[in-house]
Amino acid sequence: MAQIPTGEFITRSAEETFELAYRIGESLTESAVFLLAGDLGAGKTVFAKGLGAGLDIDPDHINSPTFTIVNAHEGRMRLYHLDLYRLAGSAEEVYEIGLDEMIAEPGAVVVIEWAERLGRFIIPATYHIKISHVTEMNYDERRVAIRFKE
Ligand code: ADP
Ligand code: MG
Repeated sequence: MAQIPTGEFITRSAEETFELAYRIGESLTESAVFLLAGDLGAGKTVFAKGLGAGLDIDPDHINSPTFTIVNAHEGRMRLYHLDLYRLAGSAEEVYEIGLDEMIAEPGAVVVIEWAERLGRFIIPATYHIKISHVTEMNYDERRVAIRFKE
């Protein structure tokens, strides 16, 4: 298993969140799934970009897909970037986009924004990343909580 830090991290800029994710991406050597939760503008896409950059993918190519739900990027490992914002939250929809094939693919990294919309679809052995504002006072500060769930 890659050495992925768990616990709570405070970042003070988008660059720091990018850097935190970059170091995680850089350390990956085998398939992994990351579920990103947090409000609109929390920094989920910033995190996905950093993760991808750590896999040698150009972060400018990693954007929240507007009309597609999943984008695949080729780096040191393949990255599937999903944004489930437009899903209503039924497990059937998630099966239709082929998520179970993506997570079963050897050497593929899967990062999912709006993981709350997975509904009843359960993925074992995933990193749960919750990004939230720390205070209303500081707009650039975020709490990034990283947990691993079997
Ligand atoms: P989401 O994908 O969660 O909707 P984005 O990653 O697209 O959010 O946007 C996050 C926004 O917040 C960006 O404009 C980014 O520059 C800004 N930002 C400010 N501080 C931070 C921080 N500490 N971490 C991440 N993003 C931050
Ligand atoms: Mg986003």
